[in-house]
Amino acid sequence: MSQLHLSPLRHFLAEFTRLVSEPHAESTRLELGATLLRQLIADDRWLAPEFAQSHPEYYQQYLLYADPLSRFSVVSFVWGPGQKTPIHDHRVWGLIGMLRGAESSQTFVINHHGELRTQGEPVVLQPGDVEQLSPSANDIHQVSNLYRDQVSISIHVYGANIGAVSRAVYTPDGQQKPFISGYSNLHLPNIWDLSKESAHA
Ligand code: FE
Repeated sequence: MSQLHLSPLRHFLAEFTRLVSEPHAESTRLELGATLLRQLIADDRWLAPEFAQSHPEYYQQYLLYADPLSRFSVVSFVWGPGQKTPIHDHRVWGLIGMLRGAESSQTFVINHHGELRTQGEPVVLQPGDVEQLSPSANDIHQVSNLYRDQVSISIHVYGANIGAVSRAVYTPDGQQKPFISGYSNLHLPNIWDLSKESAHA
């Protein structure tokens, strides 16, 4: 198997660690983070096949990296044909970058009667596109693979170790159910073995 060049991911993680170390307002962090994520997803050769593997029944969320101080995490979301999330929230900022295929994200809000309502039209992400999520603006959404006949993959960055965050999924009538997503993988990419990369550089 040819050696993967993980340098784009390693570079992204270094830059993102710098970014979260600076005292930016959330909107600035999202803007600067979106620029970094756009650079990462401009080329998809760094994502190993094991983190791009779909499951016949469930969308997959592979943790690629979690900051030791839980300031951010990076997750590869793999959507099998026609798969979608339940309606859910995040409770932290997020960035969604489309790597392969396409997805559709519908935002929801809870009105003053406690009812769940769609807000605006679905946002469609194509490869290279990045969507920003903020707890104060568009925290509740449902994401679907745009394709019924192919796998789609997006790279997500969140302002916490997202798989461990206590958050909620929503039934269509607006009822919340507690939810901790966890992750689909047991092992993370080894971004630190520079010897193998330089041998093929
Ligand atoms: Fe989401």
